[in-house]
Amino acid sequence: MSVMMVRKKVMRKWEKLPGKNSFCCDGRIMMARQKGIFYLTLILILGTCSLFFAFECRYLAAHLSPAIPVFAVVLFLFALATLLRTSFSDPGVIPRALPDEAAFIEMEIEAANGNVPQGQRPPPRIKNVQINNQIVKLKYCYTCKIFRPPRASHCSICDNCVERFDHHCPWVGNCVGKRNYRYFYLFILSLSLLTIYIFTFNIVYISLNSVKVGFLNTLKETPGTVLEVFICFFTLWSVVGLTGFHTFLVSMNQTTNEDIKGSWTGKNRIQNPYSHGNFVKNCCEVLCGPVQPSVLDRRGIVQDQNGLAPLENSTPPPGAVTTSPLISRELPKEPVTPQDVRPEALEMSTSAPKKSEGSRGKEK
Ligand SMILES: [Zn+2]
Ligand SMILES: [Zn+2]
Repeated sequence: MSVMMVRKKVMRKWEKLPGKNSFCCDGRIMMARQKGIFYLTLILILGTCSLFFAFECRYLAAHLSPAIPVFAVVLFLFALATLLRTSFSDPGVIPRALPDEAAFIEMEIEAANGNVPQGQRPPPRIKNVQINNQIVKLKYCYTCKIFRPPRASHCSICDNCVERFDHHCPWVGNCVGKRNYRYFYLFILSLSLLTIYIFTFNIVYISLNSVKVGFLNTLKETPGTVLEVFICFFTLWSVVGLTGFHTFLVSMNQTTNEDIKGSWTGKNRIQNPYSHGNFVKNCCEVLCGPVQPSVLDRRGIVQDQNGLAPLENSTPPPGAVTTSPLISRELPKEPVTPQDVRPEALEMSTSAPKKSEGSRGKEK
């Protein structure tokens, strides 16, 4: 009798990821679950640009220059591409500790802190690391069960720790972090230019028409143009202001999260250890440095211990553990630099002898 080996539907790792994300296209697209405002962003951009292309562009191409719609299309496509790249990608989510790893870290923390008498608060779970001669505190995440790498933070909306966390942006429907910050910056920069462009040429269109039929008649005849001017006017202030703010952050190699917390200013008086002290170098690092591959391996197949995808008529050997790590441990092997302490490097640091940490148990 021939043995029919019929494969079950394979389960991919994104189906088992614990954060509050939603996935499309079998894990290729990753976003936050709350996407209402992202759809509003899309409607505003697509609606305003469609009106501009349908009415003013045709008129201006015929009366002024055919280059006007060409440049508008290029800006529109660039803004849309960077928006979708920001929204649909992994912002730099740090995998949660597996149960074994979490138990090991807990054991280490307890060993370092000693027995805390009943009724007393245990010391805060903090580790200090030195980066460019500055002491930086690594906080323990009680949800992800890891010591967060420097600059990482836990997003309460997506329920993930994100590397070089900037902020959660409901307008793009995703966290903005290490892996998508440059696309976010390019998006707001191109959207600013597009808004200024459409606003300016709407004013030109209204002026040209006003000469012919009068200002009030132009407004009556072109309600679409009035709506575009209205949308662009309000978008201008917010988006151009936001782009200016992020240009400042990029030039200082700072994140929004660090700026809000005042990590490198005010009472802390700690110099930003990530800044090169040079505007050009900071911009190059933030906008042109290499993008790390995602460590989530979302499309990886959940395998059994033998490395095989599940088969319908196969029975696991007695005592076999069928749970496998959700996260690929084949992380990119890169040198650990002060600028970029990888989570795996920190995991290694947790296995260092703790004798000396006992005496540092009173760290605040
Ligand atoms: Zn976390
Ligand atoms: Zn988020």
